[in-house]
Amino acid sequence: MKTREYKGSIEKKLRKLVLLIVSMVFFIAYVAFAIFYIKEENIRAVKLNKTIQNVISQDLAKLIFLNNVATAADITTKLKSFDVLESLVVYKNGTKAVYQYAKNDKSFVSHHNTCKDGSVEIVGHTITMDTDISYFDKKIGCTSMTLRYVTYFDVFKKYIWHFSVLYLFVVLMTYLLSYYYAKKFTRPIIKLTKFLEQIELATSLDKRIEVTQNDEFGKLYEETNIMLEGLQKSLQEQQKTKEQLRYLQRYDSLTGFPNKDLFLKSLQTLIDTQTTKVWHLIFCIDISKFKILNEVYGHERSDIVLQKFAQRLEEEFEDVSLKAKIGVDEFLLYYRNVSDDEDVAIQKAEEVLNRLLGITSKPFLVKDKEIFISVHVGVDIHSNLVTNAAEIFKEVDSALQNAKKEEVYFSFYNKEVERKAQKSLDIYTELLSAVKEEQFELYYQLQYDGEGTVTGAESLVRWIHPVKGVVSPTVFIPVAESTGLIIDIGSWVLETALKQLSLWHKNPQTQEWTLSVNVSAKQFAAEGFVPLVEKMITEYVINPKKLKIELTESLLAKDTEMMIEKMKKLRNMGIQISIDDFGTGYASLQYLKSLPIDQIKIDQNFVFGMLKNKTDRIIVKTIIELSRAFDFEVVAEGVERKEDVEILKKLRCNYYQGYFFSKPEPIETIMQRYSDGL
Ligand code: C2E
Ligand code: MG
Ligand code: MG
Repeated sequence: MKTREYKGSIEKKLRKLVLLIVSMVFFIAYVAFAIFYIKEENIRAVKLNKTIQNVISQDLAKLIFLNNVATAADITTKLKSFDVLESLVVYKNGTKAVYQYAKNDKSFVSHHNTCKDGSVEIVGHTITMDTDISYFDKKIGCTSMTLRYVTYFDVFKKYIWHFSVLYLFVVLMTYLLSYYYAKKFTRPIIKLTKFLEQIELATSLDKRIEVTQNDEFGKLYEETNIMLEGLQKSLQEQQKTKEQLRYLQRYDSLTGFPNKDLFLKSLQTLIDTQTTKVWHLIFCIDISKFKILNEVYGHERSDIVLQKFAQRLEEEFEDVSLKAKIGVDEFLLYYRNVSDDEDVAIQKAEEVLNRLLGITSKPFLVKDKEIFISVHVGVDIHSNLVTNAAEIFKEVDSALQNAKKEEVYFSFYNKEVERKAQKSLDIYTELLSAVKEEQFELYYQLQYDGEGTVTGAESLVRWIHPVKGVVSPTVFIPVAESTGLIIDIGSWVLETALKQLSLWHKNPQTQEWTLSVNVSAKQFAAEGFVPLVEKMITEYVINPKKLKIELTESLLAKDTEMMIEKMKKLRNMGIQISIDDFGTGYASLQYLKSLPIDQIKIDQNFVFGMLKNKTDRIIVKTIIELSRAFDFEVVAEGVERKEDVEILKKLRCNYYQGYFFSKPEPIETIMQRYSDGL
């Protein structure tokens, strides 16, 4: 912000001031000199008066007593030698002039009619002094002596050149000195001015002037810097308060989640942007009986529950497009662009509802108290046809109100959709009790080499449902995955499998068998997985070389670094790593090279298609060749026909697994068959 032009210069003013002072001092000195000079002149005149008196005192006596003309002539001669003496009158008895002398022999006019000792009179360029003439202490007459006298003007005139030259010299010197010193004083000020000119915006308040001096200017700079720092701090605080206010207007202060206003705005923006997929999902989650929770545990604990719940939501639903906290205990999750297929969108809704159950079924540990909550959820699946954010919110809210009214876990806005979703959610509830009651059994499918010799088996879990009978893992593993139940199921599988492997170790017929255990992404990612394996290997005295952990390619899509680290740890223990369903994921060649892998399992779909489909055959061939190049074992899954075996043998596949050889069966069946000589 430039206000006005500053043209004045302190430097010039300082110089002018110094010159003025010097001139004044010089003038005063000149006057003082004149006064002093004239005083000296007075003294000189008195001295001269005395000298002349002394020189002519004898002659004066003679003159007064004898009135001798020759004496008068003598006196005149003597007096002529005194250049400054203008005139002299000798009085007898004070009033009678008996002798007169005038330097220029001009007609002389006495100044006085009388002569009075000690009288001094200055007229123009002359001074007249009267002095008594004594003879042996007796007053015999009086002289009135007029001497040339110097006036102030004379003094000025006489010395004007000297003073002028001196004055000019002094002025010049002063000018130069003042120039030098003025610069010395004004330079720091100019530096400060220039610096302050840069401090125009709040953003330039972080600048500081360099303090190079140790004098008042240094102090001034330091104070300027302190002032700027203070200003900057107070501005920053103002900014912070503003931001906090803005934040509170848009976010929930307890959880940091966006509030309803911001949610609706963001949702509208999402709706307004073009989309390729048609179906979108919104969930409105309400913590049931939160009021009672508040009364029983107090506000502080309940707030912590809300915070922890929000945190779980955040961790579990990382892939959500929008989230919000509305009201005291209600949360919103929004998935945009789920799919162009409504059924896929419904599946996603089921998955979210399952995962939500997963995170609400675990208690919240708040100040040493375990607090359980349950939720009601309103769900709305909508298409691109709904273009108003408020409308979407109204639908999901109405679904939530319905769930609350009917006291059910969830309610869809669209009842037809709800019927479809119900199935998978029933699985979750049943699976919960299945875990508690251990309704699982481990089946084993044998694996063979090219000679048809059993080399090991893969363990495959089965759910023995009290009503439905044997339930396939393809039905319940995804639900267990999404709800977190896989951790418990997986631990049970691992323990059961290792117990079996340790039995095989002890049997000479089976001691060379390997056992492959499927481990899901969530189970593998869990912190306790590696320690659990380690513990069980020790507990059941397992030869780790005989254990294979089967992981899917997709597992590597998330947090790869951590996954690779874990794979390495297992491998260091001697355990083998196998990549299941290879070819369906996205593992690149570069990736394969860096992964700590021992085995690859060709996805059964390629094996199924191999006979009829050329592409599948090429894929199988490529995978086998790739494995050989990287020195991995290769297993073909889903080998159902003799022809499959022939092709695979030609392609030099190492191991085979499939219905052609044997199906997954309970351990008793396998061991029975085996002991019968297969
Ligand atoms: P997977 O690991 O790829 O297992 C092979 C699947 O193919 C098994 O299905 C097996 O029964 C089936 N199979 C084997 N040979 C043939 C064949 O010749 N023809 C056909 N049509 N199918 C064959 P299953 O037992 O239903 O298991 C399905 C998937 O469930 C498994 O695929 C695995 O991903 C998962 N799973 C099974 N048990 C466990 C477990 O204990 N933990 C985890 N996390 N996942 C498991
Ligand atoms: Mg497998
Ligand atoms: Mg497989």
